[in-house]
Amino acid sequence: MNDAYGRTINYLRLSVTDLCNLRCVYCMPPEGVCKRSHGEICSLEELAELAAACVALGVKKIRLTGGEPLVRKGICNLVEQLNALRPAGLEELCMTTNGSLLAELAAPLLAAGLDRLNVSLDTLRPERYRSLTRGGELQRVLDGLAAAEAAGFRDIRLNTVLLGGVNEDELGELARLARIHPWSIRFIELMPIGPGAAMGGAFLPASRVLEATTELKRVQNARCKMQDENSVAKYYTAPGWAGTVGLIAPMSRRFCEGCSRIRITADGRLKLCLHSAEEIPLRGLHGAALRQTLEAAVRRKPAGHKLSEAPSDSRRPMNEIGG
Ligand code: SAM
Ligand code: SF4
Repeated sequence: MNDAYGRTINYLRLSVTDLCNLRCVYCMPPEGVCKRSHGEICSLEELAELAAACVALGVKKIRLTGGEPLVRKGICNLVEQLNALRPAGLEELCMTTNGSLLAELAAPLLAAGLDRLNVSLDTLRPERYRSLTRGGELQRVLDGLAAAEAAGFRDIRLNTVLLGGVNEDELGELARLARIHPWSIRFIELMPIGPGAAMGGAFLPASRVLEATTELKRVQNARCKMQDENSVAKYYTAPGWAGTVGLIAPMSRRFCEGCSRIRITADGRLKLCLHSAEEIPLRGLHGAALRQTLEAAVRRKPAGHKLSEAPSDSRRPMNEIGG
């Protein structure tokens, strides 16, 4: 699928739930979210049908997200259904997770056909993790990462949101996880969306990571398998390191010109841009009607966001969109 600006849309971020077992301060309100009635959220079969329609139109990569995708019952079954889309053109099936349930689920997810994992982790201090996630246990994430490696997941990526006054004194320590682990530690600028919109004072530019880790040198695209066509990160490493450090700077470096993404929320609405208010309901559409709606919608994908001028237009917080 191509949009009106000539961009090829081949990456779907599919949110499988808006629920989460954590309450990260920049993502969720302290009270969590109202549990929607069962019927408001797409069934696994509906999600698989929406994903299949996107693949038929040229989507090659699907990322499962949420809320927390691992709290969705039957998640491994959904992975299996999506894995069956490979002959139709699906090349990559991955997931973004907070990692807290990976100790139990890493092996079944790999067996079901998941290719890769991104694990969100903003601090290595147990107390800080507990307060940032409002109750989370750091050790569960560390156990989850170990289980993912033991199960055979390769090319694991960590997502770390840069938070001034919270983890800014740990940036070097977090980045240097890539010295011993063959992971990519990706630092993401805080975006003014959901509760994050009221935390502007905590914004740190991604360049702070380079100030805290002066040994890092830019990895040229050709040498870096992470720097795929969908990548929004710039990658760095240092001599002798097992992994890389990625910087994702949606605020200081707009990458809308190369955007290849669409998003579908757990209640079956298509979002053409993370930061736009427009949503196209897809539930109840099937076959040709679904394909035509998707194609027509993609042609209306906006040129880009205006986060440098105003907060996100999205009416939904991040846990409903999936990042
Ligand atoms: N629960 C899963 C997780 O935490 O990885 C998946 C969903 S979460 C919404 C996806 C990503 O969005 C996480 O890496 C999280 O840190 C990031 N995120 C949430 N709110 C954000 C904000 N305001 N700015 C930047 N990143 C944000
Ligand atoms: Fe949950 Fe992920 Fe949002 Fe944290 S960032 S509250 S883990 S959905």
